[in-house]
Amino acid sequence: MSDSIKDYELLKSEIRKHDHSYYVLDNPQISDAEYDSLFLKLINLEKKYPKWVSSESPSQRVGISPVTAFSSHQHAKNMLSLSNCFNDEEFFDFDQRVNKSLNSLVQTKYFCEPKIDGAAVSLTYLNGILEIGATRGDGETGENITSNVRTINSIPLKLIGLKDIPEVLEVRGEIFMPKDEFTRLNKLQEKEGNKLFSNPRNAASGSLRQLDPQITKSRPLHFFAHGVGIAQGISFSSQEEVFKKFESWGLPVNPLNAIAIDLDDCIKYFEKIDKNRESLNYEIDGVVYKVNNLDDQNKIGEIARSPRWAIARKFPAEEAKTKIIDINFQVGRTGVITPVAKLEKVFVGGVNVSNCTLHNIDELERLDPRTGDDVVIKRAGDVIPQIIKVIAKDKNRASKVKLPKLCECGSEATLYHAESWEVRDHQTLIKKLDSVYEAKDFIKNANKGYTLHKVQQRAAFLKCMGGRSCSARIRGSFYHFVSRKAFDIEGLGKEIINRFLELGYLKDLQDIFSLENYAEEIEELEGFGLKSTKNLILSINSSRNIELHRLIFGLGIEEVGETTARNLSNYFKNIKKLMSTSFDELITLDDIGPRVASNIMQFFEDDYCKSVVLKLVPHLKIKNPAEISQDSALSNKIVVITGTLKELKRDELKNMLIDKGAKVSGSVSSKTDYLIVGANAGSKLKKANELNVAVITEDKIFSFLDEK
Ligand SMILES: [Zn+2]
Repeated sequence: MSDSIKDYELLKSEIRKHDHSYYVLDNPQISDAEYDSLFLKLINLEKKYPKWVSSESPSQRVGISPVTAFSSHQHAKNMLSLSNCFNDEEFFDFDQRVNKSLNSLVQTKYFCEPKIDGAAVSLTYLNGILEIGATRGDGETGENITSNVRTINSIPLKLIGLKDIPEVLEVRGEIFMPKDEFTRLNKLQEKEGNKLFSNPRNAASGSLRQLDPQITKSRPLHFFAHGVGIAQGISFSSQEEVFKKFESWGLPVNPLNAIAIDLDDCIKYFEKIDKNRESLNYEIDGVVYKVNNLDDQNKIGEIARSPRWAIARKFPAEEAKTKIIDINFQVGRTGVITPVAKLEKVFVGGVNVSNCTLHNIDELERLDPRTGDDVVIKRAGDVIPQIIKVIAKDKNRASKVKLPKLCECGSEATLYHAESWEVRDHQTLIKKLDSVYEAKDFIKNANKGYTLHKVQQRAAFLKCMGGRSCSARIRGSFYHFVSRKAFDIEGLGKEIINRFLELGYLKDLQDIFSLENYAEEIEELEGFGLKSTKNLILSINSSRNIELHRLIFGLGIEEVGETTARNLSNYFKNIKKLMSTSFDELITLDDIGPRVASNIMQFFEDDYCKSVVLKLVPHLKIKNPAEISQDSALSNKIVVITGTLKELKRDELKNMLIDKGAKVSGSVSSKTDYLIVGANAGSKLKKANELNVAVITEDKIFSFLDEK
């Protein structure tokens, strides 16, 4: 059979369609092998008929040899830069200016987008074929980086579809590097002894300005379109329509874009994006509001190269400068004594910060902060604030912070290093392990007469040597026990716990449930009275009805967080079984590594801790998980979550699934029963499709959970 150019064109458009499904929609329709065979067919045809090959062929993404310099490119329409606002009021002012210039009394609709922190580019398509890719430059003239832009798989070389393809179209957008790819790239850079990139934005713009397109191709870049420059042969009526057209042409647009019908909607949009910021796989630094109606945009116009019809609402600065008032040491419930800097109050990352932990003694040594010094504080997302830089006072600098010799309980405070264990064959190191249990196990199984040696890791901590009877530790364990995710006892705050400890009403955790015996005394205390005493007793009594996982979490076992507590609860189903478990059994559980398993073993092997648990149990009515979900259809099913969830936090969903008896795993395999996908799902979705794993989209999660 002879080859026809028509078949060649059909083959190209089929490959283009699959590229779009894979790189833009994240929803591949065929397997990698099938794709490869289509691509091979294309290459073979092009070898046979070199005259057929044109620049928009999927085979032509890379092929241009390195250049010595970039030529300049004049944008047909200037690339504008947005003005910023930082709070609600400034945004309301912007809205007023918009309404004033439109002479309008009705509420303007805004198109809202996350503001990607990447490199701005302009792509010129002539009759649907990518001709030029250029950097923003000074807004009028940029650099022609076409050969590099062509290597980015999510940018179509030819727009898909046949309808409404404009003669000339400038697509404006942002090229960026996803966060996970950035981490991977930096690891590789480090391994190869190259310079590390300071952030994904620098990595993206650095990659785009490589003279050799092969290097750009090796960098994992992605693109979102966000606007038009010049457009000939087509007209749009709204921003919304522009994006719909972009999508139909196969240009990637951000799935989080939305229309806001009023100011309230705009603010809610900002808050939602801010809340989900950390879970997105790309860096954003705010949101953008654009007047949706394009006629209105034209009426409002621009000023000094900024559109007056759009504004960026920036997230609060994540770094701020302040001063150290004092540095003191706080004892936590594990006995670790942590240096904490007391700061002049500063607003950073959206909250007021007046304390900042220095984590450990090495960090204290490294930063050498002193009272009176200026410091730069960073607070990103929900991460606790940290000191990233100390600006030493030039004159009369305070002396270096001295480590306390004693814990506040009076016991000795000593420096210790986290332990790890080495298995040796005489002097030869065989294996290094974090857990003594695992090390002993290893030696037993090897049966070669290996020996066990304790070694200390570098990071130094200061620890109270008073053991579990340290008053500061006990106080910390009370704080944890009554906290929201544990027993959630309202009315038993830190100050009240401190007072009850001083007065001797509380000594060990179980004493909380005998506080009623002191009701008369408590009633007489300052700030109490009949009503608040009654309320306190009531909330203590209602907390006796406790889910097993809350009890486990509340015990404050080192490194046993909420999720681990749930896993333990679902597996052991009652506290006695957990107490008599073994190290070997624990490490078979998901999420539990040797170190956490060791912590659990040590906790229940400690006489004091064990006695507290045994004394607690008679006061409680423990709800074991078997009673919560007896015959859930999700019981023992393996579920994987991927992509960005809009409505739910990933942890919340995970806990809901665990409560239904499901096992939540991190990777898709043939054993996976369900894959739950949010936006921007990647390789996991692809694999799930290949393995025929049932896929649940985010909008179906609740009906899925209800059914099960
Ligand atoms: Zn102590």
